[in-house]
Amino acid sequence: MDSKLPDTGTTIFTIMSALASECGAINLSQGFPSFNPAAELLDLVDRYLRSDANQYAPMAGIPALRRAIAAKVESLYGRAVDADNEVTVCDGATEGLFSAIQATVRPGDEVIVFDPAYDSYEPAVTLAGGHTVHVPLLRSPDSTTFHPDWQRLRDAITSRTRLVMMNFPHNPTGAILSPDDLDRLAEIVRNTDIYVISDEVYEHIVFDGRQHESLLKHPELWERSFIISSFGKTYHATGWKVGYCVAPPVLTTEFRKIHQWVCFAVITPVQHAIADYMELRPGHYTELPEFYEQKRDHFGQLLAGSRFGLTPAAGTFFQILDYSAITDLDDADYARKLTRDIGVASIPVSVFYESPPDQKLLRFCFAKDDAILEEAAERLCRL
Ligand code: PMP
Repeated sequence: MDSKLPDTGTTIFTIMSALASECGAINLSQGFPSFNPAAELLDLVDRYLRSDANQYAPMAGIPALRRAIAAKVESLYGRAVDADNEVTVCDGATEGLFSAIQATVRPGDEVIVFDPAYDSYEPAVTLAGGHTVHVPLLRSPDSTTFHPDWQRLRDAITSRTRLVMMNFPHNPTGAILSPDDLDRLAEIVRNTDIYVISDEVYEHIVFDGRQHESLLKHPELWERSFIISSFGKTYHATGWKVGYCVAPPVLTTEFRKIHQWVCFAVITPVQHAIADYMELRPGHYTELPEFYEQKRDHFGQLLAGSRFGLTPAAGTFFQILDYSAITDLDDADYARKLTRDIGVASIPVSVFYESPPDQKLLRFCFAKDDAILEEAAERLCRL
C-alpha cells in the first residue's frame, strides 16, 4: 500500500518498552508511573462503573468534569473559561493534539516544532497535508538544560506558517518556560494568523518553587491557542487516556468538529470519577511538584557517584543524563546496550530530532517507586 506516513515507524516508546520486557530490564524508558492512582479515585471509578454511568458521554465531555477543569484553570492560571464553549474532554492528550492539528492545518501549511519534539506531532501534521519545520531548542553549555531559541523561531516563520507547537514542561528535556518567554512568543506571532497549540500535559510537575507558565495566563496568546492537558500524568493513570483541550469558543467549535469524528466521546465512568475527585482533592495537583521533586532528587543523588552528567530537570518526570564521559556510541545503540547489558531501559534523545546534534543524551523516567530507582541507579553507577 502507498503509505500516507512513509517515514513513520513504530514509536520509540513501544520499541524500548518491548526490548525492556524481552530483556527483563527495569523500564525507565516509557513515561508511566510504577504506582497506582489514589485509592479514593479508584473507588470512585469503581462506584461509577457499577452505577448508571456506562453509556456514551456527551461529545464535549460530561458537564461536571468540564466545570471542574474550568474551576482549576481559574484558580491556577487566573483565567475564567466557559465550561460549555471553551473546554472539551478528549481521549488523552494524544487525541486532543491530533484534533487541534487537524482543525488548524491545511495542505501546504507549515507547522513549527521545537526539537527534540514529542513524536506524535509530525505525523498529525503530515496527515493534514502540512509540512513540519523543526527549530532546535538551545542547549546550555556544559549542562543538560534546554531553552527555546526565540530568534530561531522568528527566523523560521514564513507566510505559510500556520501553527507553532509548544510543549512546556518539555518532554524529553524537562525544560520549563519563564513569564518572559510567553511575552517573546506573543511578540513573534503578533499581527500574524498563526495559531499555537500548547501541550501542557506536565503542567503540574514543575520544581524548585517555580511556576508553570501556562499559555492560559497570557491574554494575548490565549486568543490564538489550544491548551491541551492530560489526567494521565496528573493522577498516575496514563492508561485511562483522558485529557482535555481548552481554547476560545471559535477554536473550540472547530476542534469539536474533528473530535466528534475521531472518538466522539470519552469513557463515561472515569470522567465522573475524575470530576468528583478534582472537587474533593484539589490538593492532589498542588502537592504533585513536591512528590516528584523528591523522586528527581533521590535519583540524582543516587547517581552522584556515577560517570553520567546531569543537571536536575526543571519539570516533568524525566531526567536527561549525559553519557559522553563513558562511551562514543550513539544514543540509540547505547540505549539498547544498557537495556541488554545492565537491564536499564531509557530513551535515546536523538529520535526526537530531525537533525540530531552531536550530543550523547538519554532520557530516564523517574516516576517509579524508590526501590526501582535505587536498583536502576546502582546498575548505572557500575558503568
Ligand atoms: N504529550 C506529551 C509531551 C507526552 O509526554 C504525552 C505522554 N507521553 C502525551 C502528549 C500524550 O498524553 P496522553 O497519554 O494523555 O495521550
